[in-house]
Amino acid sequence: MPIFFDVDDTLIDHHSAAEKGALALYRRHMARLSVALSEDEFLARWHESAERHFAAFAAGECSYQEQRRRRIRDFFGAELSDAEADALFGVYLAEYERGWALFPDVLLCLDALQGETLGVISNNATSATLGKLQATGIARRFAVIMTVDVAGVGKPDPVIFRAACAQAGAVAAHCVYVGDKLDTDALAAQRAGLQGVWLNRRAERPQGDPQVLEIRSLLELPKLLRNRGW
Ligand SMILES: [Mg+2]
Repeated sequence: MPIFFDVDDTLIDHHSAAEKGALALYRRHMARLSVALSEDEFLARWHESAERHFAAFAAGECSYQEQRRRRIRDFFGAELSDAEADALFGVYLAEYERGWALFPDVLLCLDALQGETLGVISNNATSATLGKLQATGIARRFAVIMTVDVAGVGKPDPVIFRAACAQAGAVAAHCVYVGDKLDTDALAAQRAGLQGVWLNRRAERPQGDPQVLEIRSLLELPKLLRNRGW
């Protein structure tokens, strides 16, 4: 049974890496901010801005490069040229990429699932997704790498989930998908006909949704699949 994973904050600790990148940008260029912000305020707003503009990219409303520029212009001014915005984003990106690391449960989980067809479904661009998987040494574990540029649209749209299932040669009902967001990952996968599993790493709520299976660590996944006869 094919098993698909989300990438950011499921396999790779995106949040910690993004925080390192945002801090590097803040510390080097805080004097250029349109509005003065404390470090904590900057970090909180950086994450919010990233989510918002990335969602626009995943929905096909702007290009990958454009979402990067919009995030920078939120903080450093709408009048920035593309080149200036790209240069500032580059400060963030260098530190963000240096921060890429797997969660400690990932390799143990993937090892336990050896022999299964594994894939990733990401709202990122293909080049960025491959770059992350290669940098962390897990790219060749996945037979399917489904991204927004391949599917034409991102999660929570059912199209991207079904495209991944089709590439794995399986119907949606016979596929499992695991991700860290209850809505755009687990529930969206359920709506597309897959079995959605919510990876609730931070124990955000005692129980997210009775329809969705919930795990707190990827170490729980192989047993969950075995118990269900998957
Ligand atoms: Mg995620």
